[in-house]
Amino acid sequence: MSNTLLRFRRLRYAFDSLLGEILMWILILLLVLWALSVIMTYQVASNIARTPYDELLVEEVKAVANTVRTEGGRVRVNMPRAAEGVLRADARDKIYFQVLGSKSELLAGDKDLPWVAQPDNYTSGEILLRDEDFGADEIRVAYTFLPVHGAKPVLVQVGETLNKRTALTGGIISGVIVPQFVIVPLAVLLMYLGLSQGVTPLHRLQDELRSRMPTDLTPISTEGIPSEIRPLLTALNDVMVRLDENLVAQRRFIADAAHQLKTPLTGLKTQTELALNEADPERVRSRLEHVAASAENLSHLTRQLLALAKAEATMGSREGFHVLELNGMAREATMAWADRAIAKNIELAFDEADQPINVVGSPFLLRELMSNLVDNAVKYTPPHGQITVRLLPERYPVFEVEDTGIGVAPEERERVFERFYRVLGTQRDGSGLGLAIVKEIADLHRARVHIESGSRGFGTLVRVSFPRAKEA
Ligand code: ADP
Repeated sequence: MSNTLLRFRRLRYAFDSLLGEILMWILILLLVLWALSVIMTYQVASNIARTPYDELLVEEVKAVANTVRTEGGRVRVNMPRAAEGVLRADARDKIYFQVLGSKSELLAGDKDLPWVAQPDNYTSGEILLRDEDFGADEIRVAYTFLPVHGAKPVLVQVGETLNKRTALTGGIISGVIVPQFVIVPLAVLLMYLGLSQGVTPLHRLQDELRSRMPTDLTPISTEGIPSEIRPLLTALNDVMVRLDENLVAQRRFIADAAHQLKTPLTGLKTQTELALNEADPERVRSRLEHVAASAENLSHLTRQLLALAKAEATMGSREGFHVLELNGMAREATMAWADRAIAKNIELAFDEADQPINVVGSPFLLRELMSNLVDNAVKYTPPHGQITVRLLPERYPVFEVEDTGIGVAPEERERVFERFYRVLGTQRDGSGLGLAIVKEIADLHRARVHIESGSRGFGTLVRVSFPRAKEA
């Protein structure tokens, strides 16, 4: 990249004000235009100044040419002294004249005036103009050739210094340029005022945003907002709508969580009070068993809420993710439920893949996902049922939990992933958070969760398909 371009970039970043940047570019443009206009004015002014004085010079050459007589090859110049005096009379410029014969011999006028050799081809009577250096001066010369029979033509020329022309050029230039010294700064000032006026809607927008309540996420009106800013505002409004939805969901979540916590807590309180009033140790024991069950529910729910909070906190950052081997992890998660399965007379099997299955993820969250799925299978499978936890090294690594339990009706298979959603008539203890956690963790790992009927046409099969380790 060229240095100039780099410098321009740096200059751009030096401005954090849009107004400043626009003004800077306008100023640069104005200065360039100004420089161009000075050059053009000079050209035009010197042309204008030259024309009338050139015409006078031409008249003077004609006058001198009229004093030259060529008769039968002889050339004579008949210029009286008085006429020469009139010719040379000029207040500001020095006037020179010269008449050269066919052999370039001086017939009249100034000897040293630069001359041009007489050509063979010329148009008689045509008057030409040229610029010359004469001593320390620059001069303008008008000249013509007069025909001589049988010889080269006579050269007649009149020259003058440039004082009058320079003075007129200067006059024209200052007449045009000097007002610009006032006009250009005035234009910049007016532009600044205009632009400042143009950004007033932004100040209004700023005031409106400042005066808002922190909880007010209603869209900002785009009325009176310049069309350049409107897309930005629309995007901001979209963010506000999403934030608002999020806030509503968070509030609903807190309310639901509080409600869920309330049930086991009330149970805990009631059963404790009842136990305290019991005298019979057997009945006290039975009450305490209820207390233990409520405490277990409470601890399970708290664990789930924590898992959800952790999954949400990881969202976007995927902090602590690394390559993991799923076989070992799934075996552990399955074994953790073996006692519960045996107690319910359920056959719990684990089908390991015959090769390592690697995915990128968080060990804590993936253990939580597996544990929730096996927990559900044990919970919703009646005694003498079967549960199989399976890992498949397919194109995409797959973790499956299949049971022969009550199954999930097809119309419920989407909704069961919502937070606190429980299928109506579910008689087991639960919060409705298990599958929501599974879905959240799967999303974090860019995995897909899918529910279908078990392979025997009943029960439930939950399948989690992971991206391959290098694609995650
Ligand atoms: P919870 O089990 O605490 O109610 P989940 O989010 O884990 O909450 O499950 C939501 C609902 O999905 C459950 O109430 C249940 O009706 C249904 N469900 C989940 N897993 C299974 C399963 N393996 N078999 C049958 N139904 C299930």
